[in-house]
Amino acid sequence: SDVGSQKERVVTEEEWLQKWEMGNIGFHNEEEHPLFQKYLDVLLKGRSGLRIFFPLCGKAVEMKWLADMGNSVVGVEISEQAVREFFSDHSLPYCEEPVPEISGAKVFQSTSGNISLYCCSIYDLSSSIVGKFDGVWDRGALVAVNPCDRQRYASLMISLVEKNSSYLLVTVSYDPNKQKGPPFYVPESEVKSLFG
Ligand code: SAH
Repeated sequence: SDVGSQKERVVTEEEWLQKWEMGNIGFHNEEEHPLFQKYLDVLLKGRSGLRIFFPLCGKAVEMKWLADMGNSVVGVEISEQAVREFFSDHSLPYCEEPVPEISGAKVFQSTSGNISLYCCSIYDLSSSIVGKFDGVWDRGALVAVNPCDRQRYASLMISLVEKNSSYLLVTVSYDPNKQKGPPFYVPESEVKSLFG
């Protein structure tokens, strides 16, 4: 099917910040995603102590869940409000610090130390800043990225994962001529060409 109608659409960072300010966050779920439960073992393979990355994390509850399971979680989110809400929703004490490598960025860290949320654009990150990850939970991330930035996003994600990592990706399927997105329609053929 034709994804042409969404190709040119751009959602600015300002628009995302406004969504959070207006409470226009229908993408956020209070419960863990059903596919998270279903495929969790692909990610963990019975292990703990992994480093898991949440691109465009919002205040995803799965971060708390994985941290409680003994993993360390790193997220990146452009909205500082979202980051603060994550910690307050779960009554988690945290501290905040500037990120020397990225001007204007802050990192919010749970006092227990196993959740670090970077407040900046994902495109400001690199493995020299955040290291590499054993696993990724990509829900509402690839499908939220502007279509013109998908290639850049995928290359960055590939650079942030270890060789033997697992990458769980949730996409949505619908007629892209009927909805403008986000979430954008990313066909499986495109997922294959982006990630190989
Ligand atoms: N993954 C989350 C949120 C999905 S909505 C969930 O499952 O609930 C997409 C989120 O990406 C929004 O919170 C938005 O503020 C954030 N975002 C958009 N562009 C971004 C960028 N370039 N860098 C970091 N975060 C971004």
